[in-house]
Amino acid sequence: MQEITLAPGNDHSPDVNISVILPVYNEEANILALYTGLADTFGNPEISGVNVEFLFINDGSVDSSFELIKGLHDEDPRVKLVDFSRNFGHQAAVTAGIDLCRGDAVILMDSDLQDPPELLLKMIEAWRNGAEVVYAVRQKRKESALMRGTYYLYYRLLQKMANINIPLDSGDFCLMDRRVVNHLKQMPERNRFLRGLRSWVGFKQVAMPYERSARFAGEPKYTLRKLLQLGLSGIFSFSSVPLRLATFLGFAVCLIGVIFLSFVILNYFIAGRPPQGWTSLTVVVLFMAGVQLLILGAIGEYVALIHDEVKQRPNYIVREFIK
Ligand code: UDP
Ligand code: MG
Repeated sequence: MQEITLAPGNDHSPDVNISVILPVYNEEANILALYTGLADTFGNPEISGVNVEFLFINDGSVDSSFELIKGLHDEDPRVKLVDFSRNFGHQAAVTAGIDLCRGDAVILMDSDLQDPPELLLKMIEAWRNGAEVVYAVRQKRKESALMRGTYYLYYRLLQKMANINIPLDSGDFCLMDRRVVNHLKQMPERNRFLRGLRSWVGFKQVAMPYERSARFAGEPKYTLRKLLQLGLSGIFSFSSVPLRLATFLGFAVCLIGVIFLSFVILNYFIAGRPPQGWTSLTVVVLFMAGVQLLILGAIGEYVALIHDEVKQRPNYIVREFIK
């Protein structure tokens, strides 16, 4: 690929370079369909003057994903392959893509065809019209009602708690200008909640609504545990509300204590009834223990985050970069 950097939006400019970053974890059933979709999209005469690289990140797949991508690479020089030494997780895979890609504009998308390749044309057009980040916003999801409800609540909670404005229902599917990518590359943090970091860098951001389809084939590779981890890292890396919760809860508990105490005193002096012991004591002790453990847990999350950062281990290890 040539090394040229050009301002987008200039119709007379020579070719621009686009990188499509595709994290892959056991996606053997999707890779060929995905490749066909991408090849069709970029074969479309509507987008002349575009050089593209398809940068697959093989995140420690144990199926034949590697061989399939290697086969594509042998046929098509646009296909490049970064092979990890083990499974490091989706966010690490995307980070590797960001570190190693060369494009003037960089597209992040999933490899299970939940993100439609056709939308890339519209994203590139928006970029050529001056957008520096084009992020896709899910209008409809084709997941179970429970999952949809959870996602819905999560994004709204995150919106309320985060100290930056993370757009609702936007995932990692996006296009970013080289300048944005260069800033992301400089962020050393290990707990990478990319959609948050992407909002954090700023620049001219444009939303693009789309319908998120169901997976083309195979099971979701995000286990519940990984999903929970991602969700928590979104909240704890972008919000200190849980820490402040201690203060609020402390106030609330004090208030309840004062009300309860007044009730006991009045009950004794006016109604002449001595306080009833055991039950109320147990309730108070249990309640307080619960509150304290909750707060301790929240503080623990931040300590774990700090622990992770100070270790300074790399986000991923590349076994081989097949260009
Ligand atoms: N993925 C990955 N490493 C992992 C888990 C997932 O590279 O440890 C990839 C996966 O192959 C897919 C993308 O990340 O291309 C999104 O995963 P998935 O479809 O399971 O997530 P969901 O769409 O359910 O959010
Ligand atoms: Mg998926």
